[in-house]
Order: sequence, then structure tokens, then C-alpha cells
Amino acid sequence: MEEYIDLHTHTIASDGGLSVVELIKKAKEANLKALGITDHDSVDSLDVGLKEGERVGLEVVPGCEFSCYDQEKEFHILGYYLDYHKASFQKKLRYFQWKREERAKAIIKNLNSCGFQIDYEEVRGLAFGSIVLPHIAEAVIRNKSNEVKLVADFGLVPSVGNFIGRYLTKDGVAYVTKEGFDVKEAIETIHSLGGVAVLAHPAWDLVTVENESLVFNQDFYLKKLKRFGLDGLEVLTYRVSDDQTRTCVTHFTDQARNLDLIVTGGSDYHGCGGIGKELGLENVYLKIPYSCLESLKRRRNEQLHFLSNCKKRSAGGCSL
Ligand SMILES: [Zn+2]
Ligand SMILES: [Zn+2]
Repeated sequence: MEEYIDLHTHTIASDGGLSVVELIKKAKEANLKALGITDHDSVDSLDVGLKEGERVGLEVVPGCEFSCYDQEKEFHILGYYLDYHKASFQKKLRYFQWKREERAKAIIKNLNSCGFQIDYEEVRGLAFGSIVLPHIAEAVIRNKSNEVKLVADFGLVPSVGNFIGRYLTKDGVAYVTKEGFDVKEAIETIHSLGGVAVLAHPAWDLVTVENESLVFNQDFYLKKLKRFGLDGLEVLTYRVSDDQTRTCVTHFTDQARNLDLIVTGGSDYHGCGGIGKELGLENVYLKIPYSCLESLKRRRNEQLHFLSNCKKRSAGGCSL
């Protein structure tokens, strides 16, 4: 019988709804063979996750999802098998987490200027780990004193997604620029920590919709990321419908093959707020085979081999 895995999930260390122990329990119940834990700019669930995975007999793949930028374009890069205890890396993560808090405060201030009742403490209370846009939108929507303004703006009380779309995305009045890794720096950092760098959800970030058809007009980014050292592509991910998903999987499988990138997959399970799909892509046709993890591990071994050769050469006086 084919064994399935999920390499992209979130816990309460970022914007997921479950603790890492609860997530692992759910993965066991879903009969997954391996689980990647990839919180946004956080590795806080990994120590407990690895230990709990060992305890219950589930292979846990340690990871982290980095928000990165190539000029204006945002990408999410998944780093797997990082040496995440390294002090310099922990320091960098703490800096980005602090930046996220500062950004949340600035957005809240902008929303106050727009006439919405919302305060930082309330939003902080909604988030276990990092504050993300859905927490902010939810705080506005659930506050009854905002109802009149929301109905005036939207015609009815909007969903979290609609509120974000109108106020908190790039052209929205309360938008604040994000700060994260430069994408090249992120890939290099992942490699320097012995990890494997994979581009998350290309089916969302590299595809546009024109006249209800999917248009693959951003593949040039893949070539650029490959030049920066990208190792893999999260090809097996779900987009809107089975039809759209099939089109994207076929397209990005070809791209991965042409660029010699490994193929991975994940649900982007959050367990709350309607982001991502069910754990292990339960209830949809698409599944992620264990062979994806085998490719990931092969890539990791090559990376470790490369790093140890670098060390040997520099010890011998040859600089790479
Ligand atoms: Zn993402
Ligand atoms: Zn994610």
C-alpha cells in the first residue's frame, strides 16, 4: 500500500490552530507516514515535535517557512533539515519576529486612522505565536462597534479574506510594507545550515487568472531562483478545484523536471481560519507519496557532503 506524507504544516508557533503535539496526533490518525512542520519564521515547535514524533512513531521532518522578497515579489521558501539551533540563525529569526510585531502595530494604527476600533492587545490575544493578517482582520470584524462602518464599506459584514483584500493587501489603505529575507539570502542561509530550500505553493504565487483561465506567466522566477540555488518545488499542492490543481501539478512537474528541482508537496494545513487544505490533503484526489521525502533526503545528503568538502578544503588552505 502506498504511504503518504505532508511536508507543509503550521502549529501555534506561527499561525496554526493546533499545538505541535495535537498536530502530530492528527497526523497519526490520518495514517501519515511523515510530517513536515514548517511554521512561519519560527522553529519553536521543532524540538518538541521531533521528540513527540519519535515517541508515537511518526517521522517528523523539521522545517521553517520563510517570507522572502525579490524586489517587490514575495515568495515563501521552505527550509528543511536546518541546523536550527545555531545562535546566529536564532538571532535572525528573533529579528524577523520582532519586525512582524512592529508591522502589526503599524497596521493597527492605520486602521485606527481609518476609523476602526481595534487595539494591539486584543489582536495579540487572538494569536498564540506570530500575528498574521487574519488575526487583525478578525479583531476588526468581531468588534461590534465596527459594524456600521463595515456595512457602509462592504454592503455587509465582510469575511476575513474580503477585509484583507480591501484594506491590508498592497493597494489597501492600511497596508504596511513587510520586511523579510531577500530570497537569495534565504536560500544561502538554508544551505549554510545544511538544509534544503523548496519554493512553497507555486500554484498560488506564480499563476494568475485571466478570463477564468490559469496563466503561467511567471515561470521566469523559477529560473532565477534555481540560479540562486533553489533545490525543490512544492508541486503537489491544492488550488481551488481538482481541475485547476491538475493543470498546476502537470505544469510545475514539467518545470521541476526541466530545471532539475526535486518535487515535494504539502497541504499548508493551519487547522484554522480557512488557510490551506486538510492535513495530508484528506478529502481531495491529490496525495503526497513518501518518495517525495526520499528525494528531499537525497538532496540533503548531497548538501551535507558539499558542506563537509568545503570545510575540508578550507582547512587545507583552499578557499571556496
Ligand atoms: Zn506560505
Ligand atoms: Zn505555509
